[in-house]
Amino acid sequence: MLDLLATPPNPTGASAPFWDACDRGELLFPKCGRCGHLFYYPRRHCPLCGDTALGWQRMSGRGTVFSHSHVHVAFQGGAWDGQLPYTVVLVDLAEGPRMLSRLIGGDAAAVRSGDAVSVVFPQIDERRYPFFERAAAG
Ligand SMILES: [Zn+2]
Repeated sequence: MLDLLATPPNPTGASAPFWDACDRGELLFPKCGRCGHLFYYPRRHCPLCGDTALGWQRMSGRGTVFSHSHVHVAFQGGAWDGQLPYTVVLVDLAEGPRMLSRLIGGDAAAVRSGDAVSVVFPQIDERRYPFFERAAAG
């Protein structure tokens, strides 16, 4: 498999639980303790009602592709040339939130909106990252 690259996160108090969960192979999203809104990305307050009483919910990691883009220019510099082309996806998770991520796997170039995908957590240097793969048909 291709040696994947990723730009390391810089976790804050609001996002550290998300990244720590990724390192355990879990997808954990913040959930508002007041209105119940489940959301991504992690932040200090609910984007719907503004409350700061947030909890966490483990996601199934299953979803469908809302949209995608095949990237052919390495905006991160020459070290990324070997990653090209790579595929960025917007995934609608089964639980509702939409997440921006990267689609990996040999069939990423054939992705279509509506395709079923599942989260995977490849290890890249010090961390594991929540990327997606196309789910097997059936
Ligand atoms: Zn809320």
